[in-house]
Amino acid sequence: MRRVAIFRRELRLTDNPLLEDAEQGEWIPVFFLDEYNQQEHGDNLRALFFYALRHLQRRIESSGGKLYVVPLEQQEQFFDIACPDEVLFCEDVEPHSRERDSVLRSLLQRRGIRYRVLQDSLLSPIPESTYPSFTQFYKKHFTLHVEPEPPIPAPSYLRTPELDVPTAAIPAVDTEPAGQWYATEEEVQAKWQRFVATTLPRYQSLRNLPAVEGVSRMSPYIRCGMISLRQMLREAWGVSEQFVKELAWRDFYSHLLHHYPETVNMELRPEWRGFPWRHDEERFERWAKGQTGIPLVDAGMRQLLREGWMHNRTRMVVASYLTKHLLIDWRWGERWFYLHLVDADLAQNVGNWQWATGCGADALPYFRIFNPMLQAQKFDPNAEYIRRYVPELRRATGEQLNDLQNLHHAFPEYPPPIVTPEEGRKRFLQAAQRFFGESAQEKLPFDHEYEA
Ligand SMILES: Cc1cc2nc3c(=O)[nH]c(=O)nc-3n(C[C@H](O)[C@H](O)[C@H](O)COP(=O)(O)OP(=O)(O)OC[C@H]3O[C@@H](n4cnc5c(N)ncnc54)[C@H](O)[C@@H]3O)c2cc1C
Repeated sequence: MRRVAIFRRELRLTDNPLLEDAEQGEWIPVFFLDEYNQQEHGDNLRALFFYALRHLQRRIESSGGKLYVVPLEQQEQFFDIACPDEVLFCEDVEPHSRERDSVLRSLLQRRGIRYRVLQDSLLSPIPESTYPSFTQFYKKHFTLHVEPEPPIPAPSYLRTPELDVPTAAIPAVDTEPAGQWYATEEEVQAKWQRFVATTLPRYQSLRNLPAVEGVSRMSPYIRCGMISLRQMLREAWGVSEQFVKELAWRDFYSHLLHHYPETVNMELRPEWRGFPWRHDEERFERWAKGQTGIPLVDAGMRQLLREGWMHNRTRMVVASYLTKHLLIDWRWGERWFYLHLVDADLAQNVGNWQWATGCGADALPYFRIFNPMLQAQKFDPNAEYIRRYVPELRRATGEQLNDLQNLHHAFPEYPPPIVTPEEGRKRFLQAAQRFFGESAQEKLPFDHEYEA
């Protein structure tokens, strides 16, 4: 038996369905280098991804096998030369990946090659149609304890035939933010085990505090498949229901993208389409560079530039500030995140941006507007996070940080706010009222009830 296993975003040897039975017969691992992804993805994600791919290549070699890296446009020649009995690849929900897969399927069908489509980057099967709400989806797939399949062990040896196929070099991409993340499966495993032993039992109470190590920071490794989601679910089950819920959100957004590929650049909720966003490049630039004059927003945006990652709490706050207070299109923010996040994932990014804006599934109502000052007081009460990422404010006291009017006078190197939370909130509610019309009026609370 000769099998070809196509690696995409499953860059590990342990608990990987592509490696089931890999010790039996000949096993030919291949990575098709897709030019589209090179142009589409940001350098931070590409850098981490290619570090992980190189490491996988070495590990496969040390088990006696060989990972072929082949330009995607030469995949036909590859199959002509490899002549496999069977091809394995994992399902992907992104629109471009699905197009690529339909080309692959017809190529294999034409040649009479058997193939199997496996599931790795999701915990629950893609349903016929999406669930109307996250709660229903969660109840159906994540509240009953199903005895999980035992993990698939990493193979102890591999046998790959020497093939004269077209090859490509793994691109050399290096960025400072990506360099701060682990590049090997073993390091990721150790990091995860530390989190399980020390933080996971307290995840529920720590997960909203951006200054502390209260979350797993596994998202970049999940994105590249350096750790198995099934393993994470197995080990979190019964320890932290909140953590299981977060993994469930990930599946929920992936299913949504599968069923509504147009949401990549269109609001899921039709009543939002055509919203009068402001095309204000100057303000967008200040948001992107962490120069808005709102301390928590700037801390978040600078963490993104420095680490290629941002805490979930601040992701929500900066997304709300951009779309509500600055009235700037969520698509601009989504693209900036996508190009800089080391965990950039189309389904998660689009789903979360639409959720924060109010135009997505199970989203916040449009009038629920995060007040970035109140958020800072609640979730960064000692301003440790702000001081870590905004050095101009290192010496600011709590009182000074809460006094937005005078903050710039006290620390002239820190910019004055481009839009204060009060002004921005009012302007957004007025724009929303005009756009959504009469039906929205009775829902519009001009008091602070919905200011979070
Ligand atoms: C505007 C915005 C954009 C985002 N863009 C991305 C993105 O491109 N890629 C990405 O992986 N996540 C994205 N998220 C979701 C979330 O912020 C990150 O998954 C999380 O912060 C990663 O850190 P962690 O691994 O420590 O998470 P933990 O808190 O340790 O959670 C464990 C895992 O659960 C999943 N998870 C947690 N929160 C969410 C969530 N809100 N939605 C979906 N899955 C979640 C992730 O896979 C995460 O690794 C975005 C959130 C917002 C508000």
